[in-house]
Amino acid sequence: MLATTPGRGPLDVLGVPGQVNLDYAASAPCAVAAATALAELLPWYASVHRGAGALSQRCTLAYEEARQAVADFVGARPDDLVIFTRNTTDALNLLARALPAGATVITFEGEHHSNLLPWPAGTVRLPAPATPDDAVRSLHAALTELTRGNDTRPLVVSVTGASNVTGERWPVAVLSAVARRHGARTVVDAAQLAPHEPIDLDELGADYLALSGHKLYAPFGAGVLVGRGDWLEAASPYLAGGGASAYVGAATHDIRWADGPARHEAGTPNLFGAVTLGAVCAALQEADRAVLRAREQTLLARLREGLTALPGVAELSLFGPAAPRVGIVSFVVAGMDSAQVSARLGREHGIGVRDGLFCAHPLSRRLLAGAAARLGRRDVPPTAVRASIGLGTTAEHVDRLVAALGEIIADGVPAVVPVPAHRSCRP
Ligand code: PLP
Repeated sequence: MLATTPGRGPLDVLGVPGQVNLDYAASAPCAVAAATALAELLPWYASVHRGAGALSQRCTLAYEEARQAVADFVGARPDDLVIFTRNTTDALNLLARALPAGATVITFEGEHHSNLLPWPAGTVRLPAPATPDDAVRSLHAALTELTRGNDTRPLVVSVTGASNVTGERWPVAVLSAVARRHGARTVVDAAQLAPHEPIDLDELGADYLALSGHKLYAPFGAGVLVGRGDWLEAASPYLAGGGASAYVGAATHDIRWADGPARHEAGTPNLFGAVTLGAVCAALQEADRAVLRAREQTLLARLREGLTALPGVAELSLFGPAAPRVGIVSFVVAGMDSAQVSARLGREHGIGVRDGLFCAHPLSRRLLAGAAARLGRRDVPPTAVRASIGLGTTAEHVDRLVAALGEIIADGVPAVVPVPAHRSCRP
């Protein structure tokens, strides 16, 4: 059992009184489980896998226990490797580098840049589908084309579990079944799915899965790639160096690389990132996920109803309003600049949301055009506002956002406030 702070459960989250955090999709607040695991291990601070002393041994054990906790959390199979990375982006880049020569990857336009950009030249990018069935049809057609004749290139389909723009869930299990029928492997970008839904690699039909600790109530700096060991063990190390090497001789070419996850974890690992991520995975495993899910869905419905009732507001959606989704809603306010709206929410109302194109430029632009068409307005801004919820969100937070937006809309033109120019993934 996990130790917890008195009066707080392992899945309560840390926060600052008065601040309403509705930006979970960017980085979720730290859970008590993570903070407790960190506090317990900090006095033992020592190197992992290197030292013979008690401190180092305890840290090594904690690191490997964290690996097991993540493996259990995602339903890893015996032949899967669980490799600690920096985040989802890093995990997908690692996998991209480990693909066999000539592998062809298929993705959809609906992906986050981290699942669009790491893949090798020749990657097929299918248009964002209008429905989940369209996604399945379009993948089937693409794979049929790619497997025509004697073409035996390895094929990989990489798809998100839930969109970071709309929260909509993608039909991963059906897509992976189509992929399997064509001999293709499936990668699931679970960065946004894992914080909201139980994950099981077999149920998803996934060969590989990537996620980020900082979106899963652990601190920044650790993520994982989980998946089939064969390609990963055959590939050159993602980073060459200590930890990834089992033997290094006098000649420059005389190297034997390590097997297992160590092959791709060169350098001193992020012990505390891994341990806090493992602690949250364990806490979520022990929790009643159905109850957490029902609570989130109730809040999400409240949020979406509140937004829909506001004049000139349109939600961004790929699969339509009834599609299953996690606690993420992006929207526009016609006639109002999204950066100004989110800046006023922060400055005047203590509410943190995100604005921009959310590192999913092709998808966001398409959905913005759709929102403009639905509103029948020409003054829809070129970027959106995103509100995202999770374990620490309450009905009061949702109501505060809706009320604040109501005020901003009633004011008309938002006051001009400086918007930081350095934000990434901005148009
Ligand atoms: N995939 C999705 C769906 C995301 O939402 C994000 C981050 O927002 C990423 C990948 C990249 O995650 P990270 O920045 O932690 O690497």
